[in-house]
Amino acid sequence: MATGELLLRNGTIIDPGNNINAINDLLIRDGRVCAVGTDLTANSEAQVIDVTNKVITPGLIDIHGHFYDGGNGSAVHADANCLPYGTTTGVDAGSAGYLNYKAMRDYVFPMHKTNLLCFLHISAIGLAANRRLGGGLHDLNIISVQDTVDAIKANSGFCFGVKIRMHYNAVAYWDAERALCMAKEAAVQSGTRLMVHVSGTPIPLPTILKHMTEGDIATHIFNGDRENILDNAGQIRPEVADAAARGIVFDVAHAGIHCDMSVVRSAISQGIKIDTISTDLHISPDDRTVYKMNDLVSQFHAVGLTLDEAIAAATVTPAKVLGLANHSKLSDGTLSVGSVADVAVFDLLEGRFVWHDMSGNMIEGKTKLDTVATIINGQIVWSRGSLNEMGEC
Ligand SMILES: [Zn+2]
Repeated sequence: MATGELLLRNGTIIDPGNNINAINDLLIRDGRVCAVGTDLTANSEAQVIDVTNKVITPGLIDIHGHFYDGGNGSAVHADANCLPYGTTTGVDAGSAGYLNYKAMRDYVFPMHKTNLLCFLHISAIGLAANRRLGGGLHDLNIISVQDTVDAIKANSGFCFGVKIRMHYNAVAYWDAERALCMAKEAAVQSGTRLMVHVSGTPIPLPTILKHMTEGDIATHIFNGDRENILDNAGQIRPEVADAAARGIVFDVAHAGIHCDMSVVRSAISQGIKIDTISTDLHISPDDRTVYKMNDLVSQFHAVGLTLDEAIAAATVTPAKVLGLANHSKLSDGTLSVGSVADVAVFDLLEGRFVWHDMSGNMIEGKTKLDTVATIINGQIVWSRGSLNEMGEC
């Protein structure tokens, strides 16, 4: 249980959930946001840190990563890949299924300070055989809707939905729609939501989207594969515009390979919203750069979102998609008074920054968020080492 006070003095607070972008103090008490305002005072025991010229945001929420470190061949160490980048909550997107999630829940995730949640894969063993079988739905006997539903229902506050990997390596085209329907059924029966990998799909994207409903997540939606959101003329396909209008969540899950920034630019110019920015953190081949959350927020700012919009897509929006406000021990992606104090502090560097994608696009930006400190439940869990405590120097 976090105790005590922490006062961040004189930072630029960007809290899109509350429409705040202003210089303020942030006072944290007993692990929760206590006050936001100017000239706040703290008790004599409080830790007081001057964050003049720095940006304070809610802790970043990565809605698609792979954190079952050791549980399969491609998951990463959560704290090492989240905390230095301002990420306070990571959602594992289907690394495990109902047969093998308990070791993730009981032995891997408790090793970390990062808040770790999950989607269960509709495959009973998740992505355990990903490197060999690409997601493992080659025999649909690997799916049990009932067991998946039971596992999710038994883990409220930990399991937030069902994942399915609709990739041609993972499922044959003649089985793909049936597998998708089974995953949707598990999401409906568990009262949660469906996350569908929609890059490199074995069946047309519109066929997939028609099975998805409001609140379901189309992850890797801005990919540059053959079945992407654009038609041959570069226009948003009507079924994609319809899906956006129906409230299907458009999630980035960049991965180094599943996001084509020219598709992103087309989407933005045609009024398609970038709902959630996420990493798809995984152990990648050497030729692939998997960007962390601070880099992705900076990139999406560079391609046209305002900084507030990009931060919203990495904080309050993923929190809303997951319904985190219903879970009192988890951050709701805002700095509202009373909210869990998960916070990130950044320097907003100015210069010339360049990022790349696997399609050969170069993204150039003038600003970049560089993490200074990451705070979870009111405790500083990572800092760059240049924080000045007032009164000590
Ligand atoms: Zn993934």
